[in-house]
Amino acid sequence: MSTSADTSVAARTTYEPVIGLEVHVQLLTASKIFCSCSTRFGAPPNTNVCPVCLGMPGALPVLNRKAVEFAVRAAMALNCRINETSIFARKNYFYPDLPKGYQISQYDKPLAEHGYIEVQMPKPLTAKFAKEGREGRKEDRELTTKKIGITRVHLEEDAGKSLHEGFPDSDEKTAIDLNRTGVPLIEIVSEPDIATPDEAYEYLTRLKEIILYTGVSDCNMEEGSLRCDANVSVRPRGQKELGTKAEIKNVNSFRFIREALVYEIARQVEVIESGGKVTQETRLYNSHEGKTYSMRSKEQAHDYRYFPEPDLLPLVVDEKWKAEIAKTLPELPEARRARFVSDFGVTEYDAQVLTVSKSLADQFEAAAKAAKNPKRVANLVQSELMGRLKARGVSIEQSPISMKGVAASADLVESGAISGKMLKDLYELAFERNQDFPEVYEEEGRPQQSSDTSVLEKIIEEIVAANPKQLEQYRAGKKTMLGFFVGQVMKASKGQANPQLVNELLVKKLD
Ligand SMILES: [Zn+2]
Repeated sequence: MSTSADTSVAARTTYEPVIGLEVHVQLLTASKIFCSCSTRFGAPPNTNVCPVCLGMPGALPVLNRKAVEFAVRAAMALNCRINETSIFARKNYFYPDLPKGYQISQYDKPLAEHGYIEVQMPKPLTAKFAKEGREGRKEDRELTTKKIGITRVHLEEDAGKSLHEGFPDSDEKTAIDLNRTGVPLIEIVSEPDIATPDEAYEYLTRLKEIILYTGVSDCNMEEGSLRCDANVSVRPRGQKELGTKAEIKNVNSFRFIREALVYEIARQVEVIESGGKVTQETRLYNSHEGKTYSMRSKEQAHDYRYFPEPDLLPLVVDEKWKAEIAKTLPELPEARRARFVSDFGVTEYDAQVLTVSKSLADQFEAAAKAAKNPKRVANLVQSELMGRLKARGVSIEQSPISMKGVAASADLVESGAISGKMLKDLYELAFERNQDFPEVYEEEGRPQQSSDTSVLEKIIEEIVAANPKQLEQYRAGKKTMLGFFVGQVMKASKGQANPQLVNELLVKKLD
């Protein structure tokens, strides 16, 4: 990317970016927001349509109760205040994939407001380090928590889809699929609190994680269930007044949003530094070139002429309904992370990995609780599993060893059936063969273990003879010395001995 390289470091640090994000999330209802048509993805074009979502004259919308419940649940998870009364409004514009000529949305009275998401960001570099350009690795730097405000969460219907390719006459014609028309969405608008492209990335990651936990959306970006637009401007550091913003639309991954923001910030700084003015406009990001391009300027911007939707009553979510929905709210990732740290003694970092999806967190928790020693399960995840996954670049969801497998291995160590050394070997084999732990243990675990009593007795004899002082202490009543002898024997057997058997034989010998 030439722009950021051309712009001097001094120029970039003189300016401060201001970023706000608008995220559209599709709600997982079975039917559309104002009619009973199916919302199923992948149905043949224009098969999930009816007079209501096609905008036929005289057809009347009926609000989907489930869509409201899902929207309220998501807004609660985002720490929003739910407005008892909200109003649907018509957002008027012409587009071929919008048969009604307007979209039903919410405008001045949205469903929910004043929320926030907490993100963890590395602490700012000290001036000295920054000057030296020493950034260090992100995971080694101290984290600080930042609250990013959510202005509003409102309900709206989706528009249809224009298909510009895939048909024999696509070079001269555009096809329209109206299956998506009327699918329920929530729009989540952030405050312009986001200061860097990294913060934007973190905000989106946390947002998606929270929404997934609530179960109101699958947040599938490929299928368009989660879409993001970014507003970005720059201003001289210390200036109160905001600079002119550009909107970057239709970026289809969080990584590309971060890249698009990096490019766009550098571009705006360069425009200002060279004496020009940033124009207010909508821009598109080309991920192949890593650049944003102007799509339309302010002169062509829409004036939506919002007015209250006359065919729908005000939406009332009273205290009773709110309380019912609040009960469906699961424990959220942040709270769960804190609990994993306190209950299982895992690090903040590992808690983050273990709660990356609700299903993984559920699996871990169920396995840990079913095991004889939950902390040992957590320890093994940290000490044996994570490092191996990281070294192989495998996500925890694709781990050959399941959480159940980790729990099974923890129980075997706990009961003394296998040693720590054997566990490590079996984990290595599980990764090599892409098998879960119990399978590998069945095939390899038992035969490797040394349960040859005569060999063990010989080792024990030597160890006891070599440690007369410890033997004396043990016989004087210091029974904890047993652990010392077990350790010595295990070491001498290179971890191959069966610890339970060693224990038995030692007690016999020492007493
Ligand atoms: Zn319909």
